Amino acid sequence: MKPKLLVVSGPSGVGKGTLLKRVFAESGLPLTMSVSATTRKPRPGEIDGVHYQFLSTDEFETKRNTGEFLECFEVFGKGTWYGTLRRTVEQGLSAGNWVVLEIDIKGANAVKKQFPDAVLLFIEPKNIEVLKERLLGRGTETEEAMQRRLATALEELEHAPEFEHRIVNDDLGVAVKQFIDIIKSKA
Ligand code: 5GP
Repeated sequence: MKPKLLVVSGPSGVGKGTLLKRVFAESGLPLTMSVSATTRKPRPGEIDGVHYQFLSTDEFETKRNTGEFLECFEVFGKGTWYGTLRRTVEQGLSAGNWVVLEIDIKGANAVKKQFPDAVLLFIEPKNIEVLKERLLGRGTETEEAMQRRLATALEELEHAPEFEHRIVNDDLGVAVKQFIDIIKSKA
């Protein structure tokens, strides 16, 4: 079985993290999460090297210039960068794992160009109201950051039709099953 790249996109607040946790626990496949690099500051409880590799703008720029990123983008405007490290992905795949990238749509498209057999999945909410509630309820952001995330989320939703696989995260159990069925059909 050839290990694959799984690219998971969808608006902030849609519950990608919770969904992926269940998929990791239940799929029986050797999945591994790719740890991205970012210039965003860690939120309380986030650990460097586990949730992200937290870098200064200069460190990020250096890696970018030396071609260490498979893809990288400024995701929420105002200078917050996120990127997938080429080495992380290559190491995961050569160890026989399925590497999961949780990245934005621009990143997903960039990965697909370089890995045409990557499986792209888009996670969407039942409706926009549910998404707004989840984003507002998170409470870890300033009002300005929140509004920016909401605007980005709404923009991202418009790209859903470009994805081959779309999963509505309404009933978590159903969404988990759909996700696992899709990736197993690619095995
Ligand atoms: P957060 O700041 O909430 O951890 O992440 C926000 C968003 O940044 C995620 O939903 C994801 O779409 C995007 N993101 C995280 N890592 C990467 C990455 O390596 N590349 C790209 N293009 N987007 C990323």
